[in-house]
Amino acid sequence: MYSKEDIHELMAETKALFKGTEDIEALRKILRFHEYKYYVENDPLISDPEYDSLYKNLEKLEKDHPELITPDSPTQRVGADLNKDFQTVSHLVPMLSLENSYNTRDVLEWNGRLTGIIGRQPVHFSVEPKYDGAGISLIYENNLLVRGATRGDGIEGDDITANLRQIGSIPLSASFSDYGIKKIEIRGECLLNKQNFRLFNESLVQEGIAPLANPRNAAAGSLRMKDPAAVRKRKLEAVLYHVSFIEFEGKTHPEFETQSKTIRALADLGFKTPADTMKVFEKVEDVVQYCNDFESQRDTLPYEIDGLVIKVNEFKYQREAGSTSHHPRWAMAYKFKAREATSKLLNVDFQVGRTGAVTPVAKIEPVHIGGVTVSSVSLFNEGILREKDLRIGDTVIVQRAGDVIPNIVKSLTELRDGSEKEIVFPQNCPVCNHKLVKPDSEVVWRCTNIDCPAQVIERLIHFVSKDAMDIRSLGESNIRKFHDLKLITDIPSIYKMDFGAIGKLEGFGKKSVDNLRTAIEKSKSQPLNRLIFGLGVRYVGEATAKELAKNVNAIYDLTEMNVERLQQMKDIGQKVSETIFEFFHDAHNISLIKALESYGVNIKGIRETAVEGGLSGKTFLFTGTLSSMKRGDAEKLAEDHGGKLLSSVSANLNYLVTGEAAGSKLEKAKKYKSIQIITEEEFLNLIKSNS
Ligand SMILES: [Zn+2]
Repeated sequence: MYSKEDIHELMAETKALFKGTEDIEALRKILRFHEYKYYVENDPLISDPEYDSLYKNLEKLEKDHPELITPDSPTQRVGADLNKDFQTVSHLVPMLSLENSYNTRDVLEWNGRLTGIIGRQPVHFSVEPKYDGAGISLIYENNLLVRGATRGDGIEGDDITANLRQIGSIPLSASFSDYGIKKIEIRGECLLNKQNFRLFNESLVQEGIAPLANPRNAAAGSLRMKDPAAVRKRKLEAVLYHVSFIEFEGKTHPEFETQSKTIRALADLGFKTPADTMKVFEKVEDVVQYCNDFESQRDTLPYEIDGLVIKVNEFKYQREAGSTSHHPRWAMAYKFKAREATSKLLNVDFQVGRTGAVTPVAKIEPVHIGGVTVSSVSLFNEGILREKDLRIGDTVIVQRAGDVIPNIVKSLTELRDGSEKEIVFPQNCPVCNHKLVKPDSEVVWRCTNIDCPAQVIERLIHFVSKDAMDIRSLGESNIRKFHDLKLITDIPSIYKMDFGAIGKLEGFGKKSVDNLRTAIEKSKSQPLNRLIFGLGVRYVGEATAKELAKNVNAIYDLTEMNVERLQQMKDIGQKVSETIFEFFHDAHNISLIKALESYGVNIKGIRETAVEGGLSGKTFLFTGTLSSMKRGDAEKLAEDHGGKLLSSVSANLNYLVTGEAAGSKLEKAKKYKSIQIITEEEFLNLIKSNS
């Protein structure tokens, strides 16, 4: 959609706009460009704060000049709450489902029937992925998105325009007029990519809700939420791949005469499409070969797909072939093998994790699903165990979709013969026998014994794992062995291991001891996000750890941030900010971090280069209670204008902003002549006079 030259030019314009502008149209053009790079191509060219600063500029200009707001302005995605039910709307053309095929023979037979109808014409076939999402239809009229609907029963769906406007990869306007198009209905699918689906399921499990079996259910549920702002948080994407209705001003346009050209045209208009994965074939034998080959690659795509869709590429032959009342005759879905199998629930183990959480794990008769053998499946927590009403001896359906962890879909209760046994959840820790506790507001039973060996070992295993400090020579079995021998007792002890003693152990030659020593030494310079992730703060996954590392100069800055400041960071909400706050205000954890620092482990942050602004090059520290805003907001404001935050008073500090009841920091700052001590009001004036 954007050429190299375009991008070059647009980036130059972007940089110019950072300095501030009154040009509403220029801002919209640039914001649309960055929305496209971010949502459609997943390849942002500016940072989130930079995007936000442009967005806020536009918002302000539109507030001052409401008469200049257009329906396709990037600020107009956010709509009001839908307090009434969704309206039912009719599709311009019925949304039929596709006929399924499960093997090569089905595809060849379909081709035979097709040839019978349209004769021996030079037909081409387009093949594209079959996404596992929720069907949607979009109508654009005079370039503007005017309606978005669910598939519904295929004849009628729900009007979900307000929710679909929240999806960043759906353009609010597109230049259809360039092709002479007056009105068009496009179809496709809303989905969550694999990573967001996994995160979504993790958040459900944390709340004690059973994870969803597939991204389709997650997307369909999200689209019907009553709060459009909540839809935005779900990170849905929309892939468009079919034009069901088209009305030209005059002549038809040749770009809209075949499926493959249409997909490319839609991609050029700014839609997310299967253009990159789509293939066109002349011979049906090649189609069949491709389908067979592609199945093994399904896991390499960022989205869950359950097959391929084969279509007659030429629209004129599609029209000749027509449809039955259920299916178009010109298309066929080639379904991949289901990744489900039945098995028998043999037993349930209770495992203690690094936070003390006790997780029931189902042991099942080994089954082969989607290329791997599955013999144990997590049941997450007691609530989910009860909800699924599982008993030992039950026949169960096990699913494994893509890189999603295996899941028990349900038990086949009709097959019970009375010999099945209830599952009893333990009251004491299965490892240290400490009494388990569960606050009413939570769903997970925990062992609260901080010295529980199971937890210590799990924490160590997590710390050295690939995505954390990545100390490969210190895998799970070595951790267990060294812990048993008291060679390691806690995380810092990894860095003062007695290599002499290890060298004397059976199976540890000089080479393996050297490897171990090198790997541990190397881990000391890992970036801070890995250390934070490795510390295993509850709810802090890799993404959150990265966000935290980006916001600090050193890990100790986290010990000075309050809950409000933490919530200013991307995707950190109430619950997560509270656990982070607790963790970094716990004396035991702080001494652990200090110990790591003393052994030379890197604790420096990876703060992104600050935003350019009126406060560039100036450093700030806030103390006391501010009156007009929360401290976190003030800190963000300083950063948004290019200022840098310090965590303590030092000669590097330029401004100490003092609120009510400022304490020791104020006293300390008074000792430095170079530090300017200013009030909240003076701080706000400073921003005003510098921007
Ligand atoms: Zn325990």
